[in-house]
Amino acid sequence: MHVSEMLAEAKQTGQPKYSFEFFPPKTAQGVQNLYDRMDRMHGLGPSFIDITWGAGGRQAQLTCEMVSVAQSQYGLETCMHLTCTDMGKEKVDDALKSAYKAGCTNILALRGDPPREKEKWTATEGGFHYAKDLVKYIKQSYANHFDIGVAGYPEGCDDQDDPEALLDHLKEKVDAGATFIVTQMFYDVDNFLNWVAKVRARGVTIPIIPGIMPINTYASFVRRCNHMNASIPPEWSEKLEAVKNDDSAVRSIGTGLVAEMCRKILDSGEIHHLHFYTMNLAQATRMLLDELNLTPSTERPLKHALPWRQSLGLGRREEDVRPIFWKNRNKSYVARTQDWDEFPNGRWGDSRSPAFGELDAYGIGLRGTNEQNRKLWGEPKSISDIANIFVNYLEQSVDSLPWSEAPITSEADVIKQDLIALNRRGLVEKDPELTYYSVNKAGDLKSNSPGEGPNAVTWGVFPGKEIVQPTIVETISFLAWKDEAYRLGMDWAHCYDAGSPSRQLIEKMMNEWHLVNIVHNDFHQSHGLFPLFDGLTVQNINKPFEATTTNGVNGTAPKSNEHLPLTNGTGNALVAA
Ligand SMILES: Cc1cc2nc3c(=O)[nH]c(=O)nc-3n(C[C@H](O)[C@H](O)[C@H](O)COP(=O)(O)OP(=O)(O)OC[C@H]3O[C@@H](n4cnc5c(N)ncnc54)[C@H](O)[C@@H]3O)c2cc1C
Repeated sequence: MHVSEMLAEAKQTGQPKYSFEFFPPKTAQGVQNLYDRMDRMHGLGPSFIDITWGAGGRQAQLTCEMVSVAQSQYGLETCMHLTCTDMGKEKVDDALKSAYKAGCTNILALRGDPPREKEKWTATEGGFHYAKDLVKYIKQSYANHFDIGVAGYPEGCDDQDDPEALLDHLKEKVDAGATFIVTQMFYDVDNFLNWVAKVRARGVTIPIIPGIMPINTYASFVRRCNHMNASIPPEWSEKLEAVKNDDSAVRSIGTGLVAEMCRKILDSGEIHHLHFYTMNLAQATRMLLDELNLTPSTERPLKHALPWRQSLGLGRREEDVRPIFWKNRNKSYVARTQDWDEFPNGRWGDSRSPAFGELDAYGIGLRGTNEQNRKLWGEPKSISDIANIFVNYLEQSVDSLPWSEAPITSEADVIKQDLIALNRRGLVEKDPELTYYSVNKAGDLKSNSPGEGPNAVTWGVFPGKEIVQPTIVETISFLAWKDEAYRLGMDWAHCYDAGSPSRQLIEKMMNEWHLVNIVHNDFHQSHGLFPLFDGLTVQNINKPFEATTTNGVNGTAPKSNEHLPLTNGTGNALVAA
């Protein structure tokens, strides 16, 4: 979606929107941590995110990679920054092609800062001189595919002292085809509003997005203001300097001051969107959104058209059906289906024909380090310890499982108590209203499903569409999920030392237990599934696992009906169809 469309919607509804800016981190670990943070910050409801352009080889590549990951894996609408620094036409073409292929439809076109080693900016041979030239070139090459933003400077720019000349140059960028303006950071709100009036007086009517820098620490606040030549209102200096050695006081007072500035900006009626320079950190931005009452809540819920995170990768926007197993494992589903190229009926290809991608693709294994995972899920010594991890997940005291990266959603509330009880027992039986699949690691499949076709689990009514079944189960995807589920279980086992009871217990379960999936097809009976399990408990559930035992669980060969089902978090058993 184009940024200008989001801005028009914010103006029309009177509901302010916001976006987050991130920059490419320097280390591989930093990149991974930032991805996790971007994933979590998706929950704060930004309309889009920006990835800044890091001039030069690896940094530039990383910008392109981050845009692609944000669009396709995290479902974040992205605006890619692109500069003219050290960029010949060919490199610009490559960057634009990469953004296009990632499904990105927004570019912030900039001239760029001079490279670190140079004092003055100089154009690259065969490249562009000014941002307006880049805007023109993008328009020429991609017509209206990209919405193009440009930079604005309410308090002047490094190499231009004349504010009138800067306004002329801004107007030229707009005339070249820009459709929105993002400003440099500032804290002088009156100056900003005067500047907006001057921009309007030049006949520039496109939306202006103010760049808001949250305050993290006193030192970083002063450093950034100096670096950007942003003037500091005297009362801000007074209040912040008084607490400058107390980071949490600086953040709390700073949040109040910046929030007040944001309110004044939004109250002006000219501005409907705030752009937060997150500096790759979440807390200060979250505090500001809380203070402004903009954070999603029950009164202002995040809009989710579908029960899983939609990918915004190229060609995936219309996707509206997914096997339920990956509901909380978005990244691995996107990775495993990225080579599928057909898209009939809102579904990637004929469900029976395309192979799910390899298990060694990036993002399919268990998330987190061994140490983090041991901390998260403890050191289970018995089946009941493992059952308790599931129970804790259902009770929301643990927010992920090896098989489910996201916390359980309120969708499961209606059957949560049944699930809690179920996770301490287990059985699959035949019932005319039940469809079940059961498979062990070796691939022995048992099912009463009448065919290989999909079994709908949830459905929904969407404007201008026939009824959509956004989550389904079917044999082919269940078997693909089986490989991933057992692999994740084995990954979890390997978080513990070789020979430890926890490693052996989990390995044993993975080798011997069945992965079971059940759908109750009569949706009128919201609890129809659970009486089946009444009175059944896994034998010796509390007995500590003896690491040397080889014959079944705790020395007792398990009968098939003694197996605890490995539910996939908010799995298909949760919503009967
Ligand atoms: C919101 C925002 C995001 C940014 N993101 C990045 C980023 O991701 N990566 C990065 O490297 N930098 C980024 N920058 C910094 C930016 O690249 C620098 O400020 C740069 O010096 C100016 O870029 P510009 O796009 O405004 O350039 P331009 O608008 O092209 O202006 C550059 C200079 O040329 C002058 N000029 C323009 N047109 C003419 C003309 N016709 N005749 C004579 N002089 C002219 C201008 O007055 C100005 O001094 C960002 C800045 C902002 C405000």
